[in-house]
Amino acid sequence: MKEIICLGIESTAHTFGIGIITDKGKVLANASDSFKTEKGGLIPNELAKHHNEVKEKVLQDVLEKSKIKLNSIGLVSFSQGPGIQPALLVGLNFAKEIASKLKVPLVGVNHCCAHLEIGKLLTKAKDPVLLYASGANTQVIAYEAGKYRIFGETLDQGVGNFIDAFARYIGLGFPGGPKIEKLALQSKNYIELPYVVKGMDVSFSGILTNLKRKYDSKQFKIEDLCYSLQETVFAMLVEVSERAMAHTGKKELLLGGGVACNKRLQEMCSIMCKERNAKFYALPNEVLVDNGAQIAWLGVLQKNDATKEYDKIDIKPYERTDDVKVTWK
Ligand code: AMP
Ligand code: MG
Repeated sequence: MKEIICLGIESTAHTFGIGIITDKGKVLANASDSFKTEKGGLIPNELAKHHNEVKEKVLQDVLEKSKIKLNSIGLVSFSQGPGIQPALLVGLNFAKEIASKLKVPLVGVNHCCAHLEIGKLLTKAKDPVLLYASGANTQVIAYEAGKYRIFGETLDQGVGNFIDAFARYIGLGFPGGPKIEKLALQSKNYIELPYVVKGMDVSFSGILTNLKRKYDSKQFKIEDLCYSLQETVFAMLVEVSERAMAHTGKKELLLGGGVACNKRLQEMCSIMCKERNAKFYALPNEVLVDNGAQIAWLGVLQKNDATKEYDKIDIKPYERTDDVKVTWK
């Protein structure tokens, strides 16, 4: 059978990315452009403006890198949700434009499942638990009885948004994660913070308030606060991931999401897995963060759901991982 090449578009939040992959799972290229600010957070309409401004350039970039012509693409996929509505719409419309120009089928895919599937593809993990720690999302996900199920999740904001909110409060700008990580490396002085695990879920808003109060009191060094923030919330994430592994009997752990780039989080996951005789897979940052290749790969897996009736396809800003009908297993 003829090889199918899929072009996947990611636009759920700050990153506009396009990836190109073969149906055998060979990533031909991945290109992206991310919205950044010195101050303030993500404003939905500004994201859409950014994505509209960069989309043609990212497409040219990914085609050049992959050394293939646009008309070799046989399938187009895009991130349908969850995500920020105006940003998602840019991806949907660009995907429809490309698919209709090429007269090829189009399929919308779930962003969270895509993180897990690209991890499986690139690590050869068979049936992992995914700790998905990104800006907007924090979930522990695994496949069980016909669906990707959420074993634990945040009860309020995503861990990345929590880190960014504290970073913004202390004047570090966006994204705050890498800056907090750097500051944390300069301390070993743990200051007690609330540790909030409720059942299998985690919550960050109380910790954020506590950190802001401590910062305002001027009695603590910023480095110590950053170190304690990481030690506390990463321990919470590792605890819930470990319990999901124990509950399901799964022996592999994958990470996904921007916060997963954090070396201390990776180290803590690796220690936990070693202790329980499980495998921990660390992926390159390029595929941990939002990227087009993961969307392209899930597009390949879901090629039977693709259609040329483009009008029937829409975004799903609030789609949950466990709402997804898994048709590709
Ligand atoms: P995502 O939503 O998956 O694209 O990830 C973006 C989030 O990851 C933002 O909240 C960043 O602050 C966070 N992030 C990126 N790099 C790091 C890092 N090294 N440590 C902690 N958080 C990070
Ligand atoms: Mg993501």
